[in-house]
Amino acid sequence: MSYHIKQYQPGEIIFHGGDRSDCAYIIEQGQVEIYVESSESIIDILNEGELFGEMGVLDQSPRSTSARALTAVTLLEVRTQQITNRLAESDPIVKALVGVLLKRFRSMLPSGQINAGNNNLLEQVASVIEQAGISKFKLESELRIAINGGQVQTVFQPINDIQSNHITGFEALSRWQHPERGFISPVEFIALAEETDLIIEVGDLVFTRAIEMLTQLPDHVFININVSSRQLDDDQFLNRVLSRVQDHHISPERLKLEITETMVVDFELAKKWLDKCRNIGFPVCADDFGTGHSGMEQLVELNFDVLKVDQVFIRNMFKNQRYQTILKAIAHIGHSLGTKLVAEGVEDASQHDMLKQLNFDFGQGYFFGKPMSKEEVLQLKFN
Ligand code: C2E
Ligand code: CA
Ligand code: CA
Repeated sequence: MSYHIKQYQPGEIIFHGGDRSDCAYIIEQGQVEIYVESSESIIDILNEGELFGEMGVLDQSPRSTSARALTAVTLLEVRTQQITNRLAESDPIVKALVGVLLKRFRSMLPSGQINAGNNNLLEQVASVIEQAGISKFKLESELRIAINGGQVQTVFQPINDIQSNHITGFEALSRWQHPERGFISPVEFIALAEETDLIIEVGDLVFTRAIEMLTQLPDHVFININVSSRQLDDDQFLNRVLSRVQDHHISPERLKLEITETMVVDFELAKKWLDKCRNIGFPVCADDFGTGHSGMEQLVELNFDVLKVDQVFIRNMFKNQRYQTILKAIAHIGHSLGTKLVAEGVEDASQHDMLKQLNFDFGQGYFFGKPMSKEEVLQLKFN
């Protein structure tokens, strides 16, 4: 990042309204006046440490005001690239806010030369930025309403014992039926919820329903729940879940927490999560196992109760011999470490047979059953 320093004498013009904008400035020393040339109206007087000239850079249009030195001035230039790169990387909502503020500010300025020139580009940039951010903003508000209004449903997908083929548990999965957009995948709305505190609310909802469900199922049946790092970092969260489990006289081993491999970036932090869950009595399951970046080291460092092998290994076990070789190796390692093994995405009998041979403990997938409503679960027979 390179900074350029510029000096100006009192009264000297820094830029004119209508000039091309190629940088913004931070005032190192002195005082700068921002004004409209045609009417000589003063917009602002800025002092040391303040930033100006950023508007034209943000929307790549000519300067809408003029700037001159009131005293001897030293300025640090902030290049267009520095600003636009940051903006490109920023959250769409931040971009939207910047776009809206820019438009609003420009409309408040005395007109004349100000909005002339490249206004089309301004409109285009602002509207693209705004649309992306606003639609995300809107979805977030709608998700908040949906959570409170009970439109976020919880469904339960069977997890079967591989050898006996009996249902021994379920994975709780969230569903959102949007009134206009229809079904929205949890991949989309959970990611959105994870960026805000909404994941805590979704999580509370899922736990409440799962616990309620467990009270109506035989004692040997468990429910797996997906948790995210925000939930595990929230000290209140696990205590809340525990007190609900106790209120309903449920054994905590019946609630298994699924943590995806991608969540494990820092082993020390992940160990803390695992310890917290274990102390309470919730078993912990490594979800999407085999696809993350921490791989074997994760197995050494973290003592998971269950490894849930990702669907990709099951889907490809007969298509590519190498997947089957890795699957066998994972089964061997899992058994040697005393970890239970679940296979995800089991779709046919031949995959089931192979998993039986490999001594997998549990299987989940369309072969055993699709995610179902609470009412459907309650009609099932359990052995
Ligand atoms: P996941 O935890 O890996 O969940 C398994 C996904 O695989 C589910 O997708 C499930 O419907 C799908 N699936 C199950 N069996 C089969 C099969 O045989 N074949 C194929 N092709 N797919 C199968 P879903 O419900 O769309 O969920 C997607 C992801 O969203 C989940 O992946 C999980 O990471 C996340 N998710 C869903 N609900 C929640 C939630 O309440 N909280 C959190 N934190 N994440 C959730
Ligand atoms: Ca999962
Ligand atoms: Ca998974």
